[in-house]
Amino acid sequence: MGPVVQDDDNRGCSQGSRRCGRTGSRRGRGRTGIRGALVVLALAALASGCAGGGGGAGGAIRPAPGQQPGKAAPPEGAPARALHAYAGRLRAAQQARVAAARRWGLRRVPLTPPAPPAHKPEITTRKGFEVDDQEELGLPPVFTTVPTEDRVVFLTIDDGAEKDPAFLRMMSELRIPYTAFLTNYLIKDDYGYFKKMRDLGVTLNNHTLHHPYLPALSYARQKREICGMQEVMREHYGERPALFRPPYGNYDQDTLRAAKSCGVRYAPLWDEEVFVDHWEYRESDQDLHPGDIVLTHFRGRDEWKGTMPDMVRRFLDKVTAKGYAVARLEDYL
Ligand SMILES: [Zn+2]
Repeated sequence: MGPVVQDDDNRGCSQGSRRCGRTGSRRGRGRTGIRGALVVLALAALASGCAGGGGGAGGAIRPAPGQQPGKAAPPEGAPARALHAYAGRLRAAQQARVAAARRWGLRRVPLTPPAPPAHKPEITTRKGFEVDDQEELGLPPVFTTVPTEDRVVFLTIDDGAEKDPAFLRMMSELRIPYTAFLTNYLIKDDYGYFKKMRDLGVTLNNHTLHHPYLPALSYARQKREICGMQEVMREHYGERPALFRPPYGNYDQDTLRAAKSCGVRYAPLWDEEVFVDHWEYRESDQDLHPGDIVLTHFRGRDEWKGTMPDMVRRFLDKVTAKGYAVARLEDYL
């Protein structure tokens, strides 16, 4: 992700009259007695900064209800300077988020996800989605939602036909995490686009070599599709993915056995799909839920009436309005 946050050693205090030394040189000065007051100071600075950052230009963009300015706690025993720098970093990060949301035409500033869970949830196959001997064989779980009470959803993007540089900029500037599932025949004309994506912190995963309907194929041919793509990914991106998504969400026991044989540990499906002009829901309540995995595709105007950024706007505006943040799927696995 792009460096939005100021570095307190170099820039955060460069205009102040106080010495701009490394915070470590004064470590030990902070005492419990003054720390409470310093936290109040830091929070006050933050609150005034947030109000200044979010209130401009007609007020069309404002932090959504429940918007948290940041999650990291100030370091134990930090001196006043470090706390001021910390507040400054939070303020800068929030101002960057507000500016990016305005620049990309969002209705509200996306919510900041909570810190990754300290204890990973146990992922099991969704009821009714099991294959024979799923448990006994230790096959990768197939799931549509991650069990969590965090008010987060996960964005997953499939195939790889559209390679829009504006999409990479948008996601990076907005700091929205997502996970890609790539099909070789659609990406092989430009592996470099997805290398840039990987370098921005996105995990690239397996969606087969040729996007076939896998249950129609023999075990050997399924294995070629899945494990062949594992090798393509390793060759171009340095790693064999841990996540695999079967094309169309269709699979059988051979699919999961083949996937397991070449290092796949999870087979995430999805609970909602977002298009450039509408949403589709798996559940009858037609709604989002904590931990839901949302599917979309790398598509452009050739395939739907809009661009990748248009789709992301639709996605984020609903997710934010419903009080969800977008979290990183790998953080929960
Ligand atoms: Zn697909």
